[in-house]
Amino acid sequence: MLKLPVCPYCHTVYGYKDVLLNKNKKSTCYHCKRKFTQSRLKGYLCLILIAVFISVIINIFIINLVANIISALVPMFIVSVSVVIIAFLVSPFFVSYRKIKGEAEKYIETKTIESTEIKNIKVKKSVKHKLKKDNHN
Ligand SMILES: [Zn+2]
Repeated sequence: MLKLPVCPYCHTVYGYKDVLLNKNKKSTCYHCKRKFTQSRLKGYLCLILIAVFISVIINIFIINLVANIISALVPMFIVSVSVVIIAFLVSPFFVSYRKIKGEAEKYIETKTIESTEIKNIKVKKSVKHKLKKDNHN
């Protein structure tokens, strides 16, 4: 399925617009502050192949519909431009974010901090729960 890229460390999901506008090769995760690289080559190659395939199919269909090639040129042009626009619009789904060596160590640090934070929240919640129970009694 089509998915927007996620941070390779903390799996933060990036918004459509963020991915579309981010042209940098190296980026820093806004959530965990770790650096990652953007990999577009493989995904874009796949996207271009799909786009070319779709426009060829539709263009063959148009040629078969009209009497001569000349009257098919305008619809063929429109179809090709639309496919390119659609390909551009779905391009963020074909981007993937990759880890950078050395950034993984930071991952462990932040993760331990996060899990202690979660524990603290859980403790606070259970304390509240107990207090509520005590109030009832
Ligand atoms: Zn992150």
